[in-house]
Amino acid sequence: MNERQTSKEMTTSSHMQREADFLNAEWLATLSHELRSPLTTIQGFATMLLRYDTKLSSDERHEYLQSISEGCSHLAGLLDTLFELAQFESGHVKLHPTTVDLVPLLQEIITTWPHMGPEYTSVIETRIAVQQEPESSTAQQISRIEADRSLLRLLIVQLLENALKYSPDDSPIEVVVAPFTLTHHQANLPAHISIQIHTQNQPLLELRIQDHGRGIPAEYHTRIFDRFQRVDLQLTRDVNGLGLGLTICRHIVMLHHGSIWVESTPEVGSTFHVLLPIQRSNEQ
Ligand code: ADP
Repeated sequence: MNERQTSKEMTTSSHMQREADFLNAEWLATLSHELRSPLTTIQGFATMLLRYDTKLSSDERHEYLQSISEGCSHLAGLLDTLFELAQFESGHVKLHPTTVDLVPLLQEIITTWPHMGPEYTSVIETRIAVQQEPESSTAQQISRIEADRSLLRLLIVQLLENALKYSPDDSPIEVVVAPFTLTHHQANLPAHISIQIHTQNQPLLELRIQDHGRGIPAEYHTRIFDRFQRVDLQLTRDVNGLGLGLTICRHIVMLHHGSIWVESTPEVGSTFHVLLPIQRSNEQ
């Protein structure tokens, strides 16, 4: 190795170190901002309750307590996400596969939308449509796969939550479940998608979640699956988040030996694709 090469390598590694430090600093700012906002809510309403204790009507007291409770749930949700990521990254998550029927699971998720009251569920039900392909098939359609039901639930909730979060309140979200054969669809796959070797000859099921929201610029299409990556990292951004949901989705899909990717156009919308083997092979 000559001297010039060594100094070039050192420059590259110090550049990479600076970039990593910058990302860490940005992520710490995002994390403290995200944790601070529910804490501010809790602290604000608790102070009002203490200060104006005798002057508050029972409705006002109820409203303040409600806000404190929502702030606590929000905070607990953020801590759960950090804990989940730690579990995945340390290899502590093990699959408990059973036969899961994807379409009824999707319907169950939509009709019992997590942590929300019945009024919100009806809004969700009108916005999200689930469809099985091929539409024309008269044969009984099957959407069963061998997978970990609670991890699939986590994956679907995360993708639907993002579709809702990053698109206008009244825009529809389409969910499609369809069989996928590599020989038929290979040409439609983006170049960076590599299908794991032992799933190549297996029947696969595709889950597509399409929204008509803000979309994602092309340079972020792979990056958003890495931890703490968000398209908008500004603290003044209008949508909150830690940038960990899609990282958790990728862990879940990888544990199932599947693939996940996004097709998206800014201001038009995004389609998240998930491919999962229908059966677990002996090699898994
Ligand atoms: P979070 O939503 O908490 O920031 P995610 O890991 O779920 O974290 O998503 C990473 C980033 O990808 C988001 O910050 C957002 O910029 C972008 N993103 C994810 N899903 C969508 C979507 N459906 N439409 C537009 N942007 C999205």
